[in-house]
Amino acid sequence: MRGPPSPAEPAMHSDIIFTDLAKELAAKAAEIAEQYVRPGAAKHDKLQEYNWDAARAVAAAGLFGTFVPVEYGGTGAGILPLAMVTEALARADSGFGVAFAVNALGSFPIILGGTDAQRKRWLPAIAKGEKMVAFCLSEKFAGSDASGLSVTATLEGDEYVIRGEKKWTTNGGVADIYSVFAVTDPTSKSRRISALVVEKGTPGFSVEKVEDKMGIRCVPVVETHFDNVRVPKENLIGERPGMGFKHAMMTLDMARPGVAAQAVGAAQGALDLALVYANRRKQFGAPISSFQMVQKMLADMATKTEAARWLVYSCAGAIDQGGAGAPAVSKKAAMAKCFATDVAMEVATDAVQIFGGYGFMEDYPVAKCFRDAKILQIYEGTNQVQRMVIARHLIKEAGELEHLQQYIPVETQNAYAADGATSSA
Ligand SMILES: Cc1cc2nc3c(=O)[nH]c(=O)nc-3n(C[C@H](O)[C@H](O)[C@H](O)COP(=O)(O)OP(=O)(O)OC[C@H]3O[C@@H](n4cnc5c(N)ncnc54)[C@H](O)[C@@H]3O)c2cc1C
Repeated sequence: MRGPPSPAEPAMHSDIIFTDLAKELAAKAAEIAEQYVRPGAAKHDKLQEYNWDAARAVAAAGLFGTFVPVEYGGTGAGILPLAMVTEALARADSGFGVAFAVNALGSFPIILGGTDAQRKRWLPAIAKGEKMVAFCLSEKFAGSDASGLSVTATLEGDEYVIRGEKKWTTNGGVADIYSVFAVTDPTSKSRRISALVVEKGTPGFSVEKVEDKMGIRCVPVVETHFDNVRVPKENLIGERPGMGFKHAMMTLDMARPGVAAQAVGAAQGALDLALVYANRRKQFGAPISSFQMVQKMLADMATKTEAARWLVYSCAGAIDQGGAGAPAVSKKAAMAKCFATDVAMEVATDAVQIFGGYGFMEDYPVAKCFRDAKILQIYEGTNQVQRMVIARHLIKEAGELEHLQQYIPVETQNAYAADGATSSA
C-alpha cells in the first residue's frame, strides 16, 4: 500500500506570479475596453458587426502577441496574462472577449504542434494583429464527440485536398488563418486526424451560413465549407500526420482558461452594472442596495466572481509553469472553465433580477450580459463534458488515497477485496 501523497503531488499547486509585463498588458486592455469596446458594444451586438476599431486598438497595443512566443514576434507573456487581458476586454463586452481570445485558440495548434518553419511562417503576423485566426474542429454531427469528425484531407501528390463542412467557426470570415481538423487516415484509430492550416482566399474554401445568435453577436460564427480545397503538404501542422486529435485536446486545455477568463470578465461586468443600479434605484424610500435580499444577491455575485477569478488565475499560472502537458492541467482547465462559466450565468441572471423590469429590456446592457453568458456554458466543451473530465481525473487520482481504506466500512473493504480476487482469478 502506498503512503500518503506529499502535499504538492496530486493537487498541482502553483504560485501565481503577476509579472510587470502581465500587469502592463492587463492595464492596456482595460483602457482599450473602456475607450473602444464598451461604447460601441450595443451597436455591434444589434447589427452583428465586428468591432474593427477595438481590434485595431488591441493590435496597436501589442495584445495579440500576448500568447505568441518571443522568438516568433510575440511578447511570450503566457496564459495568465492572456487570461487577464481577456478578462479586462470581456468586462466591457463579453462578445469582444471571445473575438480576441479565439485568436489564441486558433493559434495554439501551430504553437504547440507546428514546426519551427510553420511558426515562423504564420505567428509573426498573428502577434502583430495583422492576421486573425479561427479554429475549425466542430461539425454538424461532431460536437462533444469531436473525434467523430468527418471532413477529410487526402494527400494527392504534394498537396492535401480537403473536403467537407465545419460548423460553428468563430471568427469565420474575419480570420485569415484557419486551423482545420480533418481525417487523414480513416483506417487508424489513434492517428486518424491531422490539423492543417487553410488561408483565406484558398480556392474552394468559403464561409457559408453566418449564424444569427442569441449572444456574442459582435463576432461572427459561421459554417466553413471545403470544396476540394488544395493546400501544400507543408500546411499540415507538425512533422507527421495523425497528431491532430492530440493537438486539439492540448489546445483546448491551453485555451479553456481563456474562456473561463471571458466568463470572469462577463460576471464582473454584470456585477458592476448591478452595483451602480442598486445604489441609485430607490423603492420604499431607500436605495434597493439597502435591502438585505438584494445585498445577499450582490454579496454572492461578488464572492462567486472572485472565487472564479482565482481558480482561473491558478490554472493559467500552472500552465505557464508546467506547460500544456503538465499533469492535471486538463482537470484544472475543466474546473476553471466549468466553474467560471456557471458563475457568469448565475451572476448575469441575478444582475437582470436586480434591474427588475428594466433588466428585461434591450435598452440597457444588462440584458446583453445575460444573453452573452449562456454560450460560455456550451462552447469549448459543454459544462457536462467538463464535469465528466473532472470526475474521470478524480476517480483515477483516488488510487493515491488507498491509505484511507481503513476508514470505510469493513464490509465494503471485504467485498471490494473479494471482487478483486474474483476478477483477477
Ligand atoms: C456560438 C458558438 C461558437 C462556437 N465556436 C466554435 C469554434 O470556434 N470552433 C469549433 O470547433 N467549435 C465551436 N463551437 C462548437 C462548440 O464547441 C460545440 O457546440 C460544443 O462542443 C457542443 O457540441 P454540440 O453543440 O454538437 O452539442 P452536443 O455534443 O450534441 O451536446 C448536446 C447536449 O448533450 C450533452 N452531452 C453530449 N455528450 C454528453 C455526454 N457524454 N454526457 C453528458 N452529456 C452529454 C451536452 O453537454 C449538451 O448539453 C461553437 C459553438 C457555438 C454555439
